[in-house]
Amino acid sequence: MSLPVTDHDLSTRQIHAGADHDPGQRTLTVPIYQSAAFEFPDYEAARQMFAQTRAGFTYTRTGNPTVAVLEQRISDLEGGVGAVATGSGQSAVAVALLALLGQGEDKHLVASEKLYGGTVDLLTDSLADHGVEVDFVDPTVPGAWAAAVRPDTRAFLLESIGNPLATLPDLPGIADVARAARVPVVVDNTLASPALYRPLEKGADIVVHSATKFLGGHGNALAGAVVDGGTFDWSAQPARWPQFTRARARWGGQSLLDKCAGASPYLHLVRAKYVHDLGTTLSPFNASQILQGTETLDLRVARHTASALTVAEFLAGHPAVARVHHPGLPGDPGAGIAARDFPRGTGSVFSFDLAAPDAAVGPFIDGLRLFKLVANIGDTRSLVAHPAAMTHCRLTPEQRRAGGIAETTVRLSIGLEAPQDLVADLGQALDTVLETVSTLRK
Ligand SMILES: *Cc1c(COP(=O)(O)O)cnc(C)c1O
Repeated sequence: MSLPVTDHDLSTRQIHAGADHDPGQRTLTVPIYQSAAFEFPDYEAARQMFAQTRAGFTYTRTGNPTVAVLEQRISDLEGGVGAVATGSGQSAVAVALLALLGQGEDKHLVASEKLYGGTVDLLTDSLADHGVEVDFVDPTVPGAWAAAVRPDTRAFLLESIGNPLATLPDLPGIADVARAARVPVVVDNTLASPALYRPLEKGADIVVHSATKFLGGHGNALAGAVVDGGTFDWSAQPARWPQFTRARARWGGQSLLDKCAGASPYLHLVRAKYVHDLGTTLSPFNASQILQGTETLDLRVARHTASALTVAEFLAGHPAVARVHHPGLPGDPGAGIAARDFPRGTGSVFSFDLAAPDAAVGPFIDGLRLFKLVANIGDTRSLVAHPAAMTHCRLTPEQRRAGGIAETTVRLSIGLEAPQDLVADLGQALDTVLETVSTLRK
């Protein structure tokens, strides 16, 4: 029997959404459909499915029953009209933007200056190779987005919680600017997850995820997703969005708007063109790992978030720490937006600056025992990284400065261990920093 799960609370939907099919053998958990291809019922069905006039699974590159459950679940949790899963968060950001850049000469994006390092690489190197121009602006100042927008701007891109300094954007303000300029807003909701923040309710049109992080939560599989809110009206300016409004042989001589009547033309483009042509597919096994993670999402995120605040408060009082970047602390630049838009807290990824010479960072990190030195976030385990040398090493020093990242900035992703054990581990490593600093002064 299938449940009308969308009427339920998020805690219920994270377990049941999407899994209301009848899986043949009546398995309770979602089976892994480990098959590259699917047999057509008959010749006529094959013809129609290739013509995309009949729905169904043909080949796992563009669709798989296990992956489809994950797509429905993430879309449901975000409040979207649908989702396309991808093999990584990186490919989700890439195909989400490629579908908006589309055809024609217009290749301008406005993006937050506080972005994941891999996204900066994508924008400033791989997309730049194809003529895409990007202006980076402050995500806390909507006026900066208004000043940067151009007639050829295809999208705004920002993160709901910026990595690594936990910068909170003024999304409602930026969305107002975007609506006036008729530009779609893409929000990477990886660090918040829908348990803390749903961008579509705050004016975003499209949400992207690295499901590798909190949605999966166990650090064992890469995955990504693109969710459409169904809010952007492509037909309001048909000449500006030819990829949706112009008839194409690829879509049987129709425009995507006509072809998809009712369903999302944007997601059809992402799946049937970009995921199909570029092969950025999520495997059914990895989809299964992420599905298992989503079932405990809100419990994990609540624990991550509470422990992170405890750790941040401890760090703020330690003499070896110059500054803690956590919007839950009074006086943080994000405190106002945290109070307004993040009633359940701001997650577990934040940074702090050591009150020590640059050379103290290495010994401090090597002195940690519970925190693992890992280029990842959103794991059950607590992780530490040094953005200047690791995740953000390909940024220019100016880009790093604009992002607020110093040589002494250390990023933490607080896991699910007991917070007092994490505080003790950081405490002993920070005490060693204090000893080093006082030896240097002698
Ligand atoms: C990790 C991450 C990505 C990239 O995701 P992968 O799954 O590692 O490819 C994109 N955006 C943000 C905010 C991330 O943290």
